[in-house]
Amino acid sequence: WKGPLRKVDEWRWLIPRDYKKGMRTDGLIYASERMIRDIRKDQAPEQVANVACLPGIVGKSLAMPDIHWGYGFPIGGVAATRVEDGVISPGGVGFDINCGVRMLVTSLEEKEVRPVLDRLLRVLFRNIPSGVGSEGRISFSVSELRKVMEQGAQYIVKRGWGLPEDTECTEEQGAMPGANPDKVSQKAIERGKDQLGSLGSGNHFLEIEVVETVFRPDVAEMFGLFKSQVVVMIHTGSRGFGHQICTDSLNVMQSAMRKYGISLPDRQLACAPFNSEEGKAYFESMVCAANFAWANRQLITHWVRESFEEVFGKSAQELGIRVLYDVAHNIAKLEEHEVEGEKAKVVVHRKGATRAFGPEHPVLPQRYRNIGQPVLIPGDMGTGSFVLVGTERAMQETFGSTCHGAGRMMSRSEADRRSRGRDIAQEMEAKGVLVLAESKATLREEIPEAYKDVSQVVEVVDRAGLSRKVVYARPLGVIKG
Ligand code: 5GP
Ligand code: MN
Ligand code: MN
Repeated sequence: WKGPLRKVDEWRWLIPRDYKKGMRTDGLIYASERMIRDIRKDQAPEQVANVACLPGIVGKSLAMPDIHWGYGFPIGGVAATRVEDGVISPGGVGFDINCGVRMLVTSLEEKEVRPVLDRLLRVLFRNIPSGVGSEGRISFSVSELRKVMEQGAQYIVKRGWGLPEDTECTEEQGAMPGANPDKVSQKAIERGKDQLGSLGSGNHFLEIEVVETVFRPDVAEMFGLFKSQVVVMIHTGSRGFGHQICTDSLNVMQSAMRKYGISLPDRQLACAPFNSEEGKAYFESMVCAANFAWANRQLITHWVRESFEEVFGKSAQELGIRVLYDVAHNIAKLEEHEVEGEKAKVVVHRKGATRAFGPEHPVLPQRYRNIGQPVLIPGDMGTGSFVLVGTERAMQETFGSTCHGAGRMMSRSEADRRSRGRDIAQEMEAKGVLVLAESKATLREEIPEAYKDVSQVVEVVDRAGLSRKVVYARPLGVIKG
């Protein structure tokens, strides 16, 4: 990409609004000088400029350092539109609605887990379905599925698969309001019905990690994190259910564009006014998928607890297994933010971006109210993950948002080409990371080199003040679909 990137400071790069006809605001990319070279390798910055053309956009069209090319919006993009006269765009959410991350903490230390790691990973692999088109272990009726759409993870807890405190430490308490199952197609229900409680494939994973570095001991302590502690990270979303809901909405949005006379530089930015029939229908079905995803991560949590109980011969409670937090990183949210000095209701699109609310925000659970929310940032299977904490600065600058991962640097096909003939599981084992996967091809598409360096990504958001590093956790064992 050859367009203009005006350096604002060490961590901020501006795409001025006069770069392209139709831009209603500036674009702003958070990155270091070193990362900018990679960011220019694909057309993601052009997508930042395109998003700046959306009707009703407020603030800037934002992009995090893990930015890369995506459908319409870049992955790593954040855009807020006014509820009153702005649009909602499915491309600003993504196909995997409420793809997100949940972290479980334990009271176990590395030395207690190492000796049984192989067995633990195998038990988890057996208990948690994974792979392309994987199906859950429980079959849900259509009426039960409607409850999942409306009550999300809370419904799963009510059925006995989890604890009330699990949903307290989940974004939206695991049940976002506004679901309308009547707006969900039969096809989506058909695809989703048997997939609840499954990991899926590719980028989705379950990882056993050990806290290696503590950056902010005071915050770590309040989060219940300590050095050598074993934690579990779960990354999955709404499976075929959310994918179908997104697909269904795209056709509707194409005709809504004509109907409302909206023209944009990329047809993948298809959208409708938030307050239109089409906009509302998408939002209400998107909420159904978001709740499905929280239910999915909740059911998997239950099987993680059962697996640990089996291997350690102790109850999950004795093992201290607790949900640290659960974040969505592909979602549109109705939120109140300060816009030009006044409180305004906006639709915040976070596509490959994580909410990072700071201290004292009223939606945070009591436990984190004084500190800010935990932010969960996976890196890659060879590197592990970071936990950060949300900030007031993010509230002012990015509608309370930060990055969501390392971000891809190579396409799947390029990663596949570069890893031909290699045994990735064996390479990982040589690095001290045990890997189990349904498919060898998936592992090759997921090689660590396919991703950016997550420590550079979190360094940028930390230094820019959008969220602060709390701990880094190194991987011990990974399950991939
Ligand atoms: P996305 O949902 O956008 O594909 O992925 C979120 C992030 O997860 C990616 O940007 C990547 O940094 C990270 N990631 C993908 N696979 C793994 C894995 O196996 N382990 C860890 N720790 N992170 C991963
Ligand atoms: Mn994801
Ligand atoms: Mn996903």
